[in-house]
Amino acid sequence: MKKICAVCNSVIEEKLVSGIKRNGKYYDVFFCRECRIGATLPVPSSEQLAQLYSSGNYRSTDGGRRFNPFIEFFINLSRLMRARRIERHVRRGRLLDIGCGRGLFLHTMRTRGWEVRGVEFSEETARSAAGAYGIDVRAGSPADWGFGAEEFDVVTISHVLEHVERPAEMMNECRRILKKGGLLVVAVPNISSLQASAGKGAWFHLDVPYHLSHFSEEGLSGLLKKHSFEIVNIRRFDLEYNPFGWVQTLLNMSGIERNLFYDLLRRRTSGGKRFSDFKTSDLILTFGLLPLYLPLCLLLSVFESSVLKRGGTIELYAVNR
Ligand SMILES: [Zn+2]
Repeated sequence: MKKICAVCNSVIEEKLVSGIKRNGKYYDVFFCRECRIGATLPVPSSEQLAQLYSSGNYRSTDGGRRFNPFIEFFINLSRLMRARRIERHVRRGRLLDIGCGRGLFLHTMRTRGWEVRGVEFSEETARSAAGAYGIDVRAGSPADWGFGAEEFDVVTISHVLEHVERPAEMMNECRRILKKGGLLVVAVPNISSLQASAGKGAWFHLDVPYHLSHFSEEGLSGLLKKHSFEIVNIRRFDLEYNPFGWVQTLLNMSGIERNLFYDLLRRRTSGGKRFSDFKTSDLILTFGLLPLYLPLCLLLSVFESSVLKRGGTIELYAVNR
C-alpha cells in the first residue's frame, strides 16, 4: 500500500524508525522527502487518540502542578523567558495559545498586560484551565473555536503541532485569525536533531503515537512559508526541553525501563506511579548514571543546537505577510 504524506500529499518511501511498540501496537515513523516532515504510521484512529489522551501523560486536570516544585520553578522561568522574547516583536495586545494545557503561559502573559485566550482539544482540559485561572479557554478543533478574522496580535502553538491530525489546516486557521503583521510562534521537537538521530526509537521526544507528525527545521519553515509567513527568528536551544531530551534518551538507550526518570519526576500527581512500582535495579542504574549524564547532556544539547544547528527542539517566530 502506498503511503501518502498528510501534509503535502506526496508518496513517502523513507522509513526513519520501525517497529516502535506502544500499548501492544506497532508503529513506524516515515519521512517525506518533499516537505521534510515525518509521519507516524499507521495513523491512530480518532477513537484511539481520544482514549490515549484520557489516560496518558497529557492529562492535566489537576489544575495545578504536574512536577515537583524545583522543576515547576524551571518551567515558570522558561515561560517568562518566552514572554520576553515575544515582547521583543509585539509589545502588547491580544494573544491566543493553541493547546494551552494548564493555562500557565496565558496566566503569565495576562499578568504582563496581555489580553489572552486559549484553546485545548479536550473539553475536560479546557474546563480545568478555565477554572484554574478564569481565562476564556475553548475546546475542540479550529472549526469549533469561533474566532473572527484578524482577531489576534500573537498566536503561540508550543509542542502541539506535532499532535495535530491536519497541520496544514491548523496553519490556515492561524493565518486567518492573526492580524497582518501579527506574530506566530511555533515550537516542535526536531526529528533532524542529533538527539533524534542518536536515539531513534529511544528518543524521548519521539513520543509515538501521540506525535502524528515529526518536523525538521526545513519542514516547519517550509510549511510556514507556504502559508505566507515570513520567518524572523529561529531558536534551536531550549533549556526546558533539550537537555532533558538527551538525558532521558540516553537513559532509555542504557536498557532502563522507558521514560522511568520522567515518570519519577511526575509521580506525585494522581495517576502517576509510586516509587515501589519501579524495579530496584532500574532505580540504582538511573541514579548511578545521572551524575555522568547530566553534565554530558547539557554539553551535547548546546553542541547540537549551536555547532550543528540541529537542536532537539526548534522554535520559529514568523510574521503574517
Ligand atoms: Zn510531505
